[in-house]
Amino acid sequence: MSTNFPEEVLELVKQIPRGKITTYGEIARVLSGSVRAARAVGQAVARNPYPIQIPCHRVVRSNGEVGGYRLGVDTKMRLLSEEGIVIEGSRVVNFEERLFRFTEDAYRFVTDRMLGKLSTWLRILGHDTLYADDLRRGEEVEDEDNALIVCAAEDARIILTRDKELASLAAKKGVRCLYLQSDEVMEQLKELQRHGLTINREPHTVRCSECNARIRKVAKAEEDLLRMKPYVPVDMIGTWDFWICEACGRVYWEGSHWRNMKEQLRQLK
Ligand SMILES: [Zn+2]
Repeated sequence: MSTNFPEEVLELVKQIPRGKITTYGEIARVLSGSVRAARAVGQAVARNPYPIQIPCHRVVRSNGEVGGYRLGVDTKMRLLSEEGIVIEGSRVVNFEERLFRFTEDAYRFVTDRMLGKLSTWLRILGHDTLYADDLRRGEEVEDEDNALIVCAAEDARIILTRDKELASLAAKKGVRCLYLQSDEVMEQLKELQRHGLTINREPHTVRCSECNARIRKVAKAEEDLLRMKPYVPVDMIGTWDFWICEACGRVYWEGSHWRNMKEQLRQLK
């Protein structure tokens, strides 16, 4: 942990927008690559010399509890309420929706149809990524290049493409677009890094690789839900953690596929 750690924590706290919250663990992960430093983040936040100007009331516990505050927990809850955060008991309602994730919120992508596999990987790494096919929503899109450009401009996304023409068209319209040379997904991730983008290097259980929607942990009481999915190994139910996509219902767990990805991602470092 660097000696500037407390200052670095407060710099990140300044980036949390009004109406959003983040967690001690999330800040720890950004600064040290692991949530283990969450306690140190808590200590740095507790010593924030300017509690209102540096909005550390927007940092809460990873279970959604609002947690402590230098000016008192009641003040923390009042400040959050004034910013539109709904709190029940001492817990943030719609926690996932309200959660601000630094790396992910910094880089959102829209990809052309040559980059389906890269889209899947970016989603598993926690990056909000729309794929060309998602833009159609069942309808025929006449001019797909233009649809990608409009989506990127309206939604503050970076276009990723294998198409030089699209890249130059996007540049003319002032939309951020990266042309990727490789056809291979690990090489493409390396290209993104060479372009100066910080790509998450650990899989995250936040986003559905099929449809880009948020996934959430399956509660013990919901285990019947898992038994309805033929691809979920029955003997793992009750022993493993599972996540489910709110939109398409796909179930995820940290199995061998997950470990293989982690193995491959090591070469990015
Ligand atoms: Zn899904």
